Formats: sequence, C-alpha cells, structure tokens
Amino acid sequence: MELSSIYVHVVLMISFSSFQFITGTTPQEPVSQIFDFVIVGGGTAGCALARRLSDSGEHSVLVLEAGIIPDPDLDVPALALSFLNNPEYSATYYSTPQKNAELENGGIVPFKAGRTLGGSSAVSSMMFNRGHPNDYNTWAEITGDRSWRYENLLKHFQRSENYAGAFPSDQHGRGGPITVSLPEYGPLLNEWLEAGEFLGYPIADPNGPQKISFCPFEYSMQFGRHVSSYTGYLKPVLGSRPNLKVILSAEAKKIIFKDNQAVGVQYRTNINDIPSDSVVFAKKEIILSAGVMESPVLLMKSGIGPKHVLEAAGIPPVKYLNVGQNLQDHIAARIDIVINNRSLAYIEERDLNPRTWKYFNQVGDGPYATYGGFGGQAYISTTGTNIPDIQLSYMGSPGVPGLFPERSNIKMSDSEVATSVFVLVTNPLSRGTLTLNLTDSNSSPVVDFQYLTNPTDMKIMVDGMEMAMKIFENTPQFKQLGARIPQNLFPNCEQFKFRSGSYWECHAKQTATSFFHGAGTCAMGKRDDDPSAVVDSKLRVNGIGGLRVVDASVMPTVTNANLQAAVYAIAEKASDMILQRWRTVQN
Ligand SMILES: Cc1cc2nc3c(=O)[nH]c(=O)nc-3n(C[C@H](O)[C@H](O)[C@H](O)COP(=O)(O)OP(=O)(O)OC[C@H]3O[C@@H](n4cnc5c(N)ncnc54)[C@H](O)[C@@H]3O)c2cc1C
Repeated sequence: MELSSIYVHVVLMISFSSFQFITGTTPQEPVSQIFDFVIVGGGTAGCALARRLSDSGEHSVLVLEAGIIPDPDLDVPALALSFLNNPEYSATYYSTPQKNAELENGGIVPFKAGRTLGGSSAVSSMMFNRGHPNDYNTWAEITGDRSWRYENLLKHFQRSENYAGAFPSDQHGRGGPITVSLPEYGPLLNEWLEAGEFLGYPIADPNGPQKISFCPFEYSMQFGRHVSSYTGYLKPVLGSRPNLKVILSAEAKKIIFKDNQAVGVQYRTNINDIPSDSVVFAKKEIILSAGVMESPVLLMKSGIGPKHVLEAAGIPPVKYLNVGQNLQDHIAARIDIVINNRSLAYIEERDLNPRTWKYFNQVGDGPYATYGGFGGQAYISTTGTNIPDIQLSYMGSPGVPGLFPERSNIKMSDSEVATSVFVLVTNPLSRGTLTLNLTDSNSSPVVDFQYLTNPTDMKIMVDGMEMAMKIFENTPQFKQLGARIPQNLFPNCEQFKFRSGSYWECHAKQTATSFFHGAGTCAMGKRDDDPSAVVDSKLRVNGIGGLRVVDASVMPTVTNANLQAAVYAIAEKASDMILQRWRTVQN
C-alpha cells in the first residue's frame, strides 16, 4: 500500500476533528494532517528540535504538546516553585516504595516533570552544568560511535548557549538560544567558595570540562528570568514560520505503524473538557521527545517494549525492545546545617517584598532571581580520582516549600537558621525500571528507581556526606557562622551512634530524594547486537523506520551533573543528524 493511501485508510478509521487549537497560526485554523516531521512533546529537547528542523523552511514541522503555554510567572525564579505542584504545568510520578530513599515519607519518592511548552526546562531550577567529558566518552564507547565523544559534542553545547557567566573561555558558545548567566544574588555563595578554597579546591567553570572543584551555580537565565527551551528556542520564531505548528493540550496516545515503519500519531486534545481524538501523519519522521517517563510509555503502548510487558498488557507487539529497563536518576541526601546569621540566608517571607520586586524588574537580580536559595556547588571525589562522584549543592535557605520543606523539629535560637547541603551521587550504578500500569494503562507508569540499592552507590553517598561535613566544621568561613548539624532529627536512626557510618547510611535513607534527573529508559546502544539498546547512536528506534527518540531517555548513563545542558546538546546533535539524513535523500 502507498503511504498516501495509508493516510486515507487510517483517517477514515479513526474519528478526528479537523479543527485544533494551534499556535503559530490563528487558534481555530484547520490543521494539515500531514507534516514532514511530527515531534511528540514540546519540552526541553522538543522545542529545540522544532526550531532547528524548521530553520531552513524546507521541512514542515508539527509539535504535539500535552501541556499549555507556560504562565509568565514561571519566568520569575522565586515564583516558579509554586507551579511545581500545579498539574496544569507539572506532572508528578510516584515511585514504588523504595528501600533506601525517602523513608521519612514512607519510601515513596515523587519525581516531577514539566508538562507545558518548554517541558521540564520551564519548571526547572535552571542550574546549568555540562557534566564531565567522560560522560560523553562513555556514550561513545557504549554506542561504538565516536561522534558522541565530548570533543565532538562541544560544538552542539556551544550552539545551544549564549554564555554570559563568570568563566569566559573558548569552551563556551555565544549568541545561542539559551543564555547562561550568574546572578549577583547567591545566598552564602562567597562563604561557600572561600571554604572550598580553604580546603584546597580550585574554583572552576561548571560548564567547561568538569573538574574536582567548587563553583557557583550558573543558570539558564537572562536578566534574572528563567530561559527555557520555549522562551529560548521556540517563542522567538513561533507565529512567523508557516512551516512550524504547535498543537497544545494534545496528548499523543499511540504511534501508528505500517509494517515496521512509523507513519502517524494518534493524539487526544481536551479543550474545554471535550476530548477529541485525531491523527497526524509524518512524511519523513516521527520524533518522540516526551521525556524520560512518557517516551517509553508511548513506545510500550504502541507495541514496542519488553516481551513480558507487552504480553502482560495484552498489547500486540511491533518490536520487542528493552524499553524502560535502564532507569537512572540522581538521588540526593539532605543534611541540615544550622548557622547563626539569618541575614546571609534567603528567607522567603522576609526577602520577597515590594522593594525586592522593584529591584528585580529594574536590575534583573536579587531574591526574586533565586529558586529556593541555592548558591554554591562542588564536585568532589570520594575515591581520590579526578572524576567527581559527588555533587554538593548548598541551599542557603531554610527550605523550598513543596520540594524541600523546612524541618519543624530543628531546635534553634531566634538568631539561627537551618540551611541545607544536598549530597548527590553523580554516577549511580543502581538501575531501576519503568513499566506500564497493567491494571489501568491510562494511569501513570509503575516506576521503581531502586535508589541506592547498589552497595557502591551507598558507600559513595556515606563517604560524600562525611566529606561534606568538613566544609562546615573545618573551615573558618563556617566556623565563624557557628555551623552545626542538629541531632535526633530521625527517630529511626537513633539506634546508631551519631555521625558513625551506619548513622549516615540511615540518615541518607531517610532523606534521599530525587533531583528529577531521570534518564536511560530508551537507552542508546549499538544498532544490531546490543540487547539493552532501544535506539542506535543516531537515536533511531532499533528495527523501526521513521521513528527516533530525542530526549533524556536516550542517555545510556546519566551525566555527572544536572541534565538540561546535555539534553540541549543531544537535541542540537539530533537535528544535525536528521537534517543530514534528509539532505542525503534529496541529493
Ligand atoms: C522541578 C525540576 C527541576 C529541575 N532542575 C534542573 C536544573 O536545575 N538543572 C538541570 O540541568 N536540570 C534540571 N532538571 C532536569 C531537566 O530539566 C530535565 O532532565 C530535562 O529538561 C528533560 O528534558 P526532556 O526533553 O527529556 O523532557 P521534558 O523537558 O520533560 O519534555 C517532555 C515534554 O513532553 C510533553 N509530553 C509528555 N507526554 C506527552 C504526550 N503523550 N504527548 C504530547 N506531549 C507529551 C511534556 O508535557 C513535556 O513538555 C529539573 C527537572 C525538574 C522537573
């Protein structure tokens, strides 16, 4: 059957409305049902891809995005937090009970993802960190494709970046869509960096080749405001390109195949609570950028997944692949550190006020430019190698409402405040799974992260927590702030000698929680002979034509830092590979 007759055939079979809410044209304009590229998910990777694939004007591009346009307040870092528990802009996935994480909350770890144009980049804490060159060199080794080596990916990092940070060098990009900058306001940042130097660490660029070092957090931020993939990549061109359309509130439900070729996407819109099912077709490719949770779900619901999952769910198989089986995330334990100087900390109810709002709007800085009071970070090694295995993030504030809430059981004087350091295992060996909910395939997937179940991960965590304490107890900067760690916060740990190895392990299990850096559920590998691979090094779904995955789910191993910089580099590289493929065909 010809592709054109498949379109007609399937369109006749599935009821669809020919009027959709779209941006890029007028709201009620009929949508063409055939595009060159259909991108599922207008998130971090999706918006970047949409921009690049539509740049030349030669290809028509449709983005199906489950969420809506982000609220403008999401651009204000201090206000963005309030959207994290708002289902109009964020999705929350709850883990199965974990043995070694969040035990103070029953072991159920909430994992958040953005559900709006811009995706997780629109709700994120904006920390911009490239990771270690070794991360990408490992991907090159796993895939057998040297183009993933750091030195070859560098141009993609640079192309995404408009660097305005504190470490200008030839490592950085200028004029790209994502401005990276360092606000002056960073609670306790100076004390943090000086303490690091006192302990003998260099202060280094978190977006150059990563080193064992202390650094400020640099952010995807311009004039104090959040830069997401929507505001950076898509917004500047949306509405002015006839070849680029976005359908909002459009949830992809299934990929349509003709034999082993992906040809269309069935999706549902829900406008004014009226559900409507439609189909769009791709002449060239369908690209899944629905994120670490939803790209694998969509593959499995469409018949691409592990044999046992598809059989148990009664889904007719299109291809058996290892979808959802290599789940990784960054987990961080929290240590509360009481200091005796409240004026240095970020205290939301004191610091967000009309005066600081005016300052934010005039200068683009100040307390409204912070997302919860993070200021400094460090990359350290518990084993003495030059590749960090721990990232420390110092939050100079008593808490982030709804995310890392203030602890009510810390005993303090009125002049004290509890700040926190987060100890994050950067290269975890623990692997989890994501699978369909077999009792209700429309509900959230079943996510079992298996956090800290690999003993090496737990050892690194405990050693990292002990090393973190040196910053607060062995440096003049924090000694003069009277830094101390409160005792008896966790009744379940009272059986262990305070600050012994067993105590830290217990403390980690109570407090360790996700930093929302999920990766690996549609992992890259070698095309033919790697049973663990879902996509090849060109991000094509193995054994299927016309279908790629481009988002954090393709990382075979999670990077050694926060993920967004790496996701932008993946999307930039993917756009080159896709355009190259179709250029070759045309020539
Ligand atoms: C609260 C939070 C804070 C974070 N902080 C940082 C940070 O400070 N620094 C950092 O580097 N990283 C951070 N991260 C992680 C980082 O943002 C993500 O790893 C990265 O943005 C993931 O990009 P992605 O393209 O894979 O997915 P996403 O950006 O999540 O995009 C997926 C998109 O697909 C859409 N979608 C999902 N299902 C469907 C469907 N069926 N049909 C249509 N559309 C669909 C979603 O609505 C979303 O827009 C944070 C993440 C969160 C959630």
